[in-house]
Amino acid sequence: MDKRSRVISNEDGAVEISGIKYNGKYIFGNLLVCGDCGASYRRRTERNKVVWCCTTRIEQGKNACPHSPTLDEAWVQDTLSEAVCQNGVYNESIIRNKVDKIQVYDTFILIFRVDGSQEKKSFQNGRPMIY
Ligand SMILES: [Zn+2]
Repeated sequence: MDKRSRVISNEDGAVEISGIKYNGKYIFGNLLVCGDCGASYRRRTERNKVVWCCTTRIEQGKNACPHSPTLDEAWVQDTLSEAVCQNGVYNESIIRNKVDKIQVYDTFILIFRVDGSQEKKSFQNGRPMIY
């Protein structure tokens, strides 16, 4: 769980909390699961790109989960827009309502819908992946 946050006290005594507050803020943190080791995926920023990576790989290194890909967040959004949302327009509330979890494998993701159906989306059809 990502709980990095910063508490700022203003001059007037009001307290603000900025930064990343809760992992729940990011829908993919609840949905993306590593198909290899079963860990959840965590959001990172690399070279000004937002990516998602297996938590095991982040915490214990690449060798701990060698086959899990790092996903470009834009690719995940595009893929879900096509697969789940109407008219291919990204809509987070539709995804929340329709998707139960997403397993990530080395060359594809498996979208598990709440109605019990599954859909496989391979990386070749989308944006290039970062490993
Ligand atoms: Zn993993």
